[in-house]
Amino acid sequence: MNPSPTSAVSRRNVLAGAAALAGSATVAGAAAVPAQAAGRAGAQDGHGGHDGSTVVFRDVRPFGTGKSVDLVVENGKISGKPAPRGAKVVEGRGRAVLPSLIDAHIHPDKTTWGGSWVTRKPASGIAEYVAQDVELYKSQTRSLAERAYGLMSHAVTRGTRGMRAHADVAPAYGLEGVEGLRSARERLRHALDVQIVGFPQHGVIRTPGTVELLEEAARTGAVDFIGGIDPGGFDQAPVEQLDVVFGIADRHGVGLDIHLHDRGERGLAALRGIIERTRALSLQNKVTVSHVFCLPELDDRQLGVFGEQLGELGISLTTVAPSAQQVLPIKKLREYGVHVGLGSDGIRDSWSPFGNADMFDRAHKMGWVTDVRLDDELTECFTAAADGGADVMGLPHADLAPGAPADFVVLRAECVPQVVVDTPARELVVHGGVIVARDGELVR
Ligand SMILES: [Zn+2]
Repeated sequence: MNPSPTSAVSRRNVLAGAAALAGSATVAGAAAVPAQAAGRAGAQDGHGGHDGSTVVFRDVRPFGTGKSVDLVVENGKISGKPAPRGAKVVEGRGRAVLPSLIDAHIHPDKTTWGGSWVTRKPASGIAEYVAQDVELYKSQTRSLAERAYGLMSHAVTRGTRGMRAHADVAPAYGLEGVEGLRSARERLRHALDVQIVGFPQHGVIRTPGTVELLEEAARTGAVDFIGGIDPGGFDQAPVEQLDVVFGIADRHGVGLDIHLHDRGERGLAALRGIIERTRALSLQNKVTVSHVFCLPELDDRQLGVFGEQLGELGISLTTVAPSAQQVLPIKKLREYGVHVGLGSDGIRDSWSPFGNADMFDRAHKMGWVTDVRLDDELTECFTAAADGGADVMGLPHADLAPGAPADFVVLRAECVPQVVVDTPARELVVHGGVIVARDGELVR
């Protein structure tokens, strides 16, 4: 990435592993662990929700292709049975039905979504980015909970069914980020499955007071996951940070989701440390590593060495597909059984004016940056956002098959590859059999 002339360090190149810059002062990163997704409410208006009611989405085309069918939803799930007489009917008018998507990595606590435009200032290092994070937070007139709710509900209207949401945990905020996300999650529990990560953006070891806050968040069950951030490059305490966050996760039965931007040997050393501790503490299927820019640099043999261990331990990964060089080799990793989810990362926060919490658009961006062309390759982008994210969150695939959660979008489309390119408007968003958004607005 070429930094702009006014900004010696861009968000992208920081995330790309400019961890050497970390010497200055504070933060940049986060992590968390899997916890239970919020429960789902029952049917709001009898739309095949968990109250046992049945609804038929008549005349729809699963995945856009093939013949029109009547999709029967019963008790929040796709039913393989014919619709009973008298079931409620929603006319699909030949529209396509596609699984709704998962945002496997997002920071709703930092966003200014829905607020006035923010003019960002140049920043010359991580410490300055973090200082601007805090400044922006203090300048906002809406509460963190309100801003997070605005962004998360917008994501629902764009067809997001679940998200792993990182909240900064640092003395500058205490646990306000976590509490804000919990409040937003509660308000959206009928529409969105949310896992919360307590993310030590300001470092675990380098910022005193953080360890105690992380411990409290995990002990009280306020977070599902504990995060970490570049133990070597940023925190400059490679062993100590991992010992601390794994210790907290182990003591309180939460998962881990660690931001790892460090590249080269420093990144690989951190990854080895994560693998060792996951094995030692028997935390199989409870650990995620986010970004992992050190992996795409490896040749196939080296990747295989890590892939085998990650797969064996159920350590999942997330990518936000920021560039062709930094997106994870999802297909190769899948050969080793490694789950990879796709995410938005920060959205209209102090780090970046970009982002929209639309996972259809994010799948599009992944295809764009990786320069894909073939239908199979475009479909892979969609699948990363649909199934990859579900695997990371431990949710069943919303693949429209009998028994799958009735989480889907209704839209005008021909087929999945075309959807990835065109990102058509989502006319209906259905979650657990309930229509939760229509024409871009939440159904209240
Ligand atoms: Zn992040």
